[in-house]
Amino acid sequence: MTDRPVRVRFAPSPTGYLHVGGARTALYNWLFARQHGGAFVLRVEDTDRTRYVPDALTDLLDGLRWLGLSWDEGPEIGGPYGPYHQSDRLELYHQAAQELIAKGAAYRCYCGPERLAQLREEQRASKQREGYDGHCRHLTSQQIADYEAQGIRPVVRLAVPEVGETTFHDLLRGDITVDNRQLTDLVLLKSDGFPTYSLGVVVDDHHMRISHIMRGEEWISTAPALQRIYDAFGWESPVQAHLPTILDPSGEGKLSKRKKKLADGREMLTFVHEFRQAGYLPEALVNFLALVGWSYDGQTEFFRRDELIELFDLTRVSTSAGAFSYGKLDHMNAAYIRQLGTNDLAGRLLLVLRREGYPAGLDFALKAVPLVRERIKTLPEVIPLVDYCFAERLQYEPELLVQKKMDAESTMVALHKAASCLRAVSPFEEASIETALRALAEGLDLKLGQLLGSIRVACTGKNVTPPLFGTLELIGQQKVIARLERAIALLAG
Ligand code: GLU
Repeated sequence: MTDRPVRVRFAPSPTGYLHVGGARTALYNWLFARQHGGAFVLRVEDTDRTRYVPDALTDLLDGLRWLGLSWDEGPEIGGPYGPYHQSDRLELYHQAAQELIAKGAAYRCYCGPERLAQLREEQRASKQREGYDGHCRHLTSQQIADYEAQGIRPVVRLAVPEVGETTFHDLLRGDITVDNRQLTDLVLLKSDGFPTYSLGVVVDDHHMRISHIMRGEEWISTAPALQRIYDAFGWESPVQAHLPTILDPSGEGKLSKRKKKLADGREMLTFVHEFRQAGYLPEALVNFLALVGWSYDGQTEFFRRDELIELFDLTRVSTSAGAFSYGKLDHMNAAYIRQLGTNDLAGRLLLVLRREGYPAGLDFALKAVPLVRERIKTLPEVIPLVDYCFAERLQYEPELLVQKKMDAESTMVALHKAASCLRAVSPFEEASIETALRALAEGLDLKLGQLLGSIRVACTGKNVTPPLFGTLELIGQQKVIARLERAIALLAG
C-alpha cells in the first residue's frame, strides 16, 4: 500500500454531535493505527464558522473516550504536528495558497455573490453544468489592481486544467477517473481568510504526514478535486479508502441524524451519546460497529477489542452500504452484559439506578446481578426488574393476590403463614427462603406456584418478576413481612 509509517486521522467538524457513522470511521482508523503500531491523530476541522455548534467538540471527545478510541495526537494532548484545530493553522493555509498562486496553479477571484448567483441562474437556464466559469483566471494586472482598489476581498481558486482527466486511487474501488471538465475551479481560501474543506484537508494531511485516509463514502465526490490539489503542490496523496454508507434498518435510506422510529415504536438512536444514555456497553457498540462494513469470515460475530486490532483488514472493507440492525445490536449488547463479571456489572447497574434516582447501594446491585443478568439487553432494563424494591407503597389490585383455585380467605391464610414462616428465616437468603417456602406450600397443601404467586404480587406488585426467592432476599426481610401484612389487610378489605 505504502511504506510510509502508518499515521491515520479522524477529522470531525464540530458542526454536530458524534454520530455512529463518524464513530465507525474513527474506529476503523483507530484499529488500523493500533494494528500497525502507528499513530491515530484527531484533527478538528473547525473552519466552517457558520455551522459551528459550541458543545459539539466536547461531545465528540467524550464519545471517542467512552468508546475507548484514544488518540495519540490531537486536542488536549497536542503532538509534534499541531496545532490540531484547523482554526489555529490559518497561517499555514495562507502560505499554501500563496505557493499555488506563485506556481500559477491557483488565482485570486474577485467575483461577488451577485455575479455568482447570476452565473448559476444562467447555467441552470441553459442546462449547462454549474460551476465557476473561470472569469478571474486570466485577469490583467490592471484589473486586479482595480478590484483591490475597490477593497474587494478575493477568494483563492484552484486553476483546474480545462482538458484532460483526473484519476485518484481508492484502495477498495481501484482507480476512479473523472473528466476535468467535471471539476470546477474550486475555492481554496475563502474571503474571510478561512480555508475551504478541500485546502485544509490536503494541507493538513500532508503536513501531519498522514499515510492513509479512511473516511465516509459521502466524501468520495471530493476526492478528484483533492487529487488536483495534491498534484498542484506536487505532493504524494495518502492511500485512500472510502467507507461504505450506513443505512437505516430498512436498508432504504441513509442512517440520518433526523429521528425516525423503529418498527417496534422505539426511537432510532444515531448519536453515540444516545447509545450511552440508553445503556449500551461501549465494548458492544465497538464490536457491532466494526461489523457494519467489514467482516472477518462472514460469520464470526463476537470479537474482543484485541482481536479486532489483530484481525481487522482494511482491504476487506466492503464497498456496498450496510444496514444498521438495532436488533443485532441489542442481541450483542445482551451477550456482552452476560459476559461481564459480577462486580463490573453491579457497578454499571448502580450508575443507572442512581441516575434514575433510586437510592441503591453496591450491596443491592451485587445481589441484583444474578437475578437480572440474563434478563436485560440494555442496562436501564434493570429498572422495571427491581424498582419495586424501593417503592414506599406498592400499587396493585388486591384481586391479583388471589391465585387460581384459591379465594380471598385461603389467600389470607397462606400469606399469613408465609409472613410468620419468613420472619423465622435466618439468614434471609435465597436458599433458606426457598427451603422454608417449599415446606410451607407442602404443609398448606398448596401448589408451590399458588403460594409464590400470591407472595410475588404482595411483595412486588407485579405477577412477573425475576426468580422469587432471590427477589425476596433483594427486597429484604423487613419489607417483605410488611408487604405481606399489608396484602392481608387489603384482602380483609
Ligand atoms: N471534516 C470532515 C468531516 O466532518 C472530514 C472528512 C475527511 O475525513 O476528509 O467529516
